[in-house]
Amino acid sequence: KQLVIAIDGYSSCGKSTTAKAVAALLHYAYVDTGAMYRGVTLYLLEQGIAFDDLPGIEQALRDISISFRRNRRTGRNELFLNGVNREDDIRQMRISNSVSEVSVIPMVRHAMVAQQQRMGRKRGVVMDGRDIGTTVFPDAEVKIFMTAEVELRAKRRQDELAEKGEIVPLDDIIENLRKRDHLDSTRAESPLRRAPDAVLLDTTHITISEQVDFVLDRVSS
Ligand code: C5P
Repeated sequence: KQLVIAIDGYSSCGKSTTAKAVAALLHYAYVDTGAMYRGVTLYLLEQGIAFDDLPGIEQALRDISISFRRNRRTGRNELFLNGVNREDDIRQMRISNSVSEVSVIPMVRHAMVAQQQRMGRKRGVVMDGRDIGTTVFPDAEVKIFMTAEVELRAKRRQDELAEKGEIVPLDDIIENLRKRDHLDSTRAESPLRRAPDAVLLDTTHITISEQVDFVLDRVSS
């Protein structure tokens, strides 16, 4: 049976690393919903559309097309915005610093949630984000809620950014993670929270392969 596996939680807990590995092992699709909010943020910043310009945002949502394409060389799913590969751009710190302000906008959420629901309609999908088990797929067969200590999350994020050539002080990253977690969990529209039926997974002291096994165990049980 093809399932929906929802992986939610705080920023940089290893959600996407785990989700990607689980999807590959099960031959499921993988959808990184954070990348979609990052894509919208990149577009608004580049077009100079203010985050309180609701008519401008409404038009932007009509003009934007977001899709994922698999890079055959790296095996990675990359984000395409209006046909252009923007995977590297959406990971930059300037996007991380603004994305949570964009993702509170109800109109933005409605558009992204609708697209995510279409993407997961055929099941056989691992989706990671903040509201997958609560709003996007409340009926997901497997729901995981991931947490980890903020210092560890920041260190991992710092290493990822460094790999792409962006050197950011640890304190700036910690501040960004704390701010995003706060905005994400206090917004009015589908805030980040654990669904009552989601299993908690603290990744502070475990390896990636243990995280993957934890999810796979939930799939087979
Ligand atoms: O997962 P990632 O850290 O890339 O997500 C970036 C931001 O996108 C989050 O901090 C949050 O503001 C927003 N987001 C969201 N709902 C999701 C996924 C991401 O609001 N399902």
